[in-house]
Amino acid sequence: MTNPMVIVGAGQAGLQLAESLRAEGWQGPIRLFGDEPHPPYHRPPLSKAWLLGETAEGQVGIRGPEFLARQSIDLVTDVAVVAVDPATRTIALSDGRSEPWEGLALTTGAAARPLPVPGGDLAGVMTLRTLDDAHRLHDRLIPGARVVVIGAGFVGLEVAASARKRGLDVTVVEAAARPMARVVSPPISAFYADLHAAKGVRLLLGAAVTALLDDGAGHVRAVATSDGEIPADLVVVGVGAIPRDDLARAAGLVCDRGVVVDACSRTSDPAIVAAGDCSARRLADGSLLRLESVQNAVEQARSAAAALLGRDRPFVATPWFWSDQHGVKLQIVGAAAGAETTLVRGDPAEGRFSAFHWKDGRLVGVESVDRPQDHMASRRLLDAGRSPSPTEIADPAFDLAAAARG
Ligand SMILES: Cc1cc2nc3c(=O)[nH]c(=O)nc-3n(C[C@H](O)[C@H](O)[C@H](O)COP(=O)(O)OP(=O)(O)OC[C@H]3O[C@@H](n4cnc5c(N)ncnc54)[C@H](O)[C@@H]3O)c2cc1C
Repeated sequence: MTNPMVIVGAGQAGLQLAESLRAEGWQGPIRLFGDEPHPPYHRPPLSKAWLLGETAEGQVGIRGPEFLARQSIDLVTDVAVVAVDPATRTIALSDGRSEPWEGLALTTGAAARPLPVPGGDLAGVMTLRTLDDAHRLHDRLIPGARVVVIGAGFVGLEVAASARKRGLDVTVVEAAARPMARVVSPPISAFYADLHAAKGVRLLLGAAVTALLDDGAGHVRAVATSDGEIPADLVVVGVGAIPRDDLARAAGLVCDRGVVVDACSRTSDPAIVAAGDCSARRLADGSLLRLESVQNAVEQARSAAAALLGRDRPFVATPWFWSDQHGVKLQIVGAAAGAETTLVRGDPAEGRFSAFHWKDGRLVGVESVDRPQDHMASRRLLDAGRSPSPTEIADPAFDLAAAARG
């Protein structure tokens, strides 16, 4: 009998990998292991519609049981893979069993980064990564309560926006000088800083958290910062995620803040692939790119499925991402980092604009605020390697959609 393709981690990438194995023609068994009690679900709504109570549990599932049955994908939930042995081609499970594999995929995602300060483990201090985290956080968003969000990245700011809409008193503390500084350009940071302020979210920038303070009964009562104390009934830590590459490390695979993979999602062992948040992709120039996005998880998983069947299907699409804060959609394609020229098309004052970025004379990234047409056109432009000039983009009459069609 054929051994199964084994996928470790039943999230966005893991499920896509299973589906893509079938689409690529694999007819043998597929075993998809997840350590959470839930079937694979979408994480993006957890900080948005879920916290607002607008999404029910049934709506976050990616695929229903009928689909998995039709595709003969054998999903095993609530069981962790605790070791991988490339020599014997077996995995060890948390329930004591071990299983063989024909090909192995690691799609173990990432874990919320803990805050390394005294008091980080007090009651009332939460992170948001899983559906169970989202359940707990949703129930703690009580109107009038004081929540302090630590970290003004995407997840932190989305939680802040949702908590504000739920009627909480919200403060965001961020060490950097502007929100989302690692991932967006200054015009986008400035727009969202103003938006949060207009919605009543206090944003404390350039403030380092030094400790979380105990109320004497083991519950958080305040956040101590370089600027003083902020009273808190609840603290949400949103300071990033750590790739879950421990299994890969223990198995001797090359890791560098994530399981290192090539453009086809192959690890340093050709029989093992990795995809999604747990991985770091080696680019042509030798650098490593680690992305945490749905698109990256899906595209890498497609490449990984092909690679397990001995085919090359490199991930070449330009990275894109989105965020929703206070109902205003941010869509990003490419990267603004290192850009030499930036130009804004549209009017930030009207809440609809895009920031275009060029480096070495080429368009490298576009960030769109409530301008989905700009985003879709920019994806096509960047994927096709087309690069309108700053003069063209500055002209409101320039037809971006036509330029994207080529
Ligand atoms: C709150 C939140 C909001 C987000 N919003 C957006 C957004 O707006 N847009 C966007 O593009 N992206 C967003 N993301 C990021 C996106 O959800 C992730 O990039 C995507 O889920 C990555 O998929 P993955 O399969 O790599 O990891 P995951 O979805 O994390 O799945 C990995 C799974 O593997 C399991 N696992 C780990 N180790 C083991 C083991 N040893 N054995 C068994 N199972 C294991 C984990 O428990 C988990 O269930 C958001 C993420 C979060 C947390």
